[in-house]
Amino acid sequence: MERAAATPETEKENRKKWFLLIAMLFSLAVLIISIVFLARIKGWVGRSESTTLLSIVDAETAAPEDRQQSLSFIDDEHMVDARCADDLEALLAACARVGYEPVVTAAYRSASEQRELFNVLADSYMQQGADAESARKLARQKIPLPGHSEHQLGLAVDLADGDPTKEDQTGIQSWLAAHAWEYGFILRYPEGKESLTGHGFEPEHYRYVGPSAAKQIYELDLTLEEYVSMFYSK
Ligand SMILES: [Zn+2]
Repeated sequence: MERAAATPETEKENRKKWFLLIAMLFSLAVLIISIVFLARIKGWVGRSESTTLLSIVDAETAAPEDRQQSLSFIDDEHMVDARCADDLEALLAACARVGYEPVVTAAYRSASEQRELFNVLADSYMQQGADAESARKLARQKIPLPGHSEHQLGLAVDLADGDPTKEDQTGIQSWLAAHAWEYGFILRYPEGKESLTGHGFEPEHYRYVGPSAAKQIYELDLTLEEYVSMFYSK
């Protein structure tokens, strides 16, 4: 079949059609991008994956008792949520490269381990003469009530310098405070933010929130509570 020769009119018509088509596609793309952007800010999408990394467990909110999660061993005795295992390994390796001997002193704790830890401490106060109620109160100042520790999420780790000659931990702690975010971890209970986190300063306690949230939290100097209420509140 032979194509009819294009007259200036049909060419003009064609150009107009193409222009309209491109303009429509462009508007559609802008619309889709805006919806996705808005949805991300509002947390309408990606909630199931990303917001479970942002779960807040505190004195009011307990960790879900029987949450299905896959755990990975990071050394002989500690496990973490599998989603943060690779980043934790990379963080520890980077920390070792600059001369520290990072060790994990606490990681995932099951509900019963947390309960045990709490009861042992409460019992020790009772042995010192406290009644049951005040023993629990005293224990609560040191260890969160069973169900209320971030360690039950598998997303929190306590890190220390394992070098036995180093009693002073400030070296590794300041390195971690400056670099943990690069691997998706944040200093969860910073100094001076006690009223926001409801927690005393814990220089060894790091929480995985994923790389993009960790970067924003670090750069904007936020706590997890502030970050979640700024970007994920309903
Ligand atoms: Zn901890």
